[in-house]
Amino acid sequence: MTANLLDFDLEGLAAFCEQLGEKRFRAVQLFRWIHQKGAADFADMSDLARSLREKLPGVCTIADLPVLSRQDSTDGTIKWLFDVGDGNAVETVFIPEDDRGTLCISSQAGCAVGCRFCSTGHQGFSRNLTTGEIVAQLWHAEHFLRRQLKQPGERVITNVVMMGMGEPLQNYNALVPALRVMLDDHGYGLSRRRVTVSTSGVVPMIERLAQDCPVALAVSLHAPNDALRDDLVPLNRKYPIAELLDACLRYLPAAPRDFITFEYCMLDGVNDQPEHARQLLTLLKGHGGRGVPCKINLIPFNPFPDSGLTCSSRPVVLRFGQILNEGGVVTTVRKTRGDDIDAACGQLAGDVLDRTNAASRLAQRRQATARPIRIVRKERQA
Ligand code: SAH
Ligand code: SF4
Repeated sequence: MTANLLDFDLEGLAAFCEQLGEKRFRAVQLFRWIHQKGAADFADMSDLARSLREKLPGVCTIADLPVLSRQDSTDGTIKWLFDVGDGNAVETVFIPEDDRGTLCISSQAGCAVGCRFCSTGHQGFSRNLTTGEIVAQLWHAEHFLRRQLKQPGERVITNVVMMGMGEPLQNYNALVPALRVMLDDHGYGLSRRRVTVSTSGVVPMIERLAQDCPVALAVSLHAPNDALRDDLVPLNRKYPIAELLDACLRYLPAAPRDFITFEYCMLDGVNDQPEHARQLLTLLKGHGGRGVPCKINLIPFNPFPDSGLTCSSRPVVLRFGQILNEGGVVTTVRKTRGDDIDAACGQLAGDVLDRTNAASRLAQRRQATARPIRIVRKERQA
């Protein structure tokens, strides 16, 4: 079996090099070639010993993800649909802003949590991505953008958010080495504050993340009480709000930021009433006696077919935000970006195949490989 070098953080690559009888500094060189320079070909790695350059192609690869489609929005947002095999596809979105470039990365093909308002959740769960597949999204996007913007040595992606398809904390073992590659000074050198893991609330893994690799944490709350959250985010039945907020409080001492971001998707007539905002204030300001230091991000719901839900009107969203801000919790409304290419939160990969030519490309691949194709899956994992 050949190893995929994108699967390794620096420690892993050092161990791999050791197996080949190579010293640690070779791993650092190799790591820098891959992640800082975007090299895909060992022959280009001019400062590696020739013997090593010749040995590597026989034992490892640098496995890029095949691109099924790339869509460029008029506002500069770019969305890739990557083929992860067996008919599964995942999406990655680049969002440029004046002072930063954010990449939104997927962690799983589909998702087992099955939130009511989420297109990925409606697809059901296919499989976890490997570390290499998570890292490849960043590797591909960063070096593509550098080439496109003609900035060969300059970093384009300054922030990563694990807010694409999937629940990152249900793919913990692959996630953590991928985060380490993002943070490593020999890799992408991103600051911990600029790498965000977003979770629907996998409590035990929040605790582990604090120990293993603390980065900024966003928690998808969406409801101020358990009855409503049970319905919207089924994982709440396992880890109810009080346990989740306790986990947030325990996370904070290790976190690179002194607050948790709570995400709240605005659903018309479901969770968007002034009463919900007031309940949310009481909850967040009172939990554990002193409250949870936090900011709230209101996300306008992005509708998709068969969700049975609609987005709250703009005045309702603004009123909700006003109540929270006036109550002393800093609240912002997320700007929607890439509307013309359906690149916003929660729209990823569900019905995208209807609107791109990716379906036909997948069908061609199917003919070539004669394997069953599953893209839009309706069944859910228990
Ligand atoms: N599984 C993780 C990360 C991926 S979802 C999580 O749930 O946090 C990223 C964000 O998009 C989450 O806050 C999620 O609640 C939100 N989201 C999902 N579907 C959405 C939709 N249709 N409209 C708006 N936001 C949505
Ligand atoms: Fe999964 Fe997050 Fe979508 Fe819920 S919102 S189904 S946890 S990807």
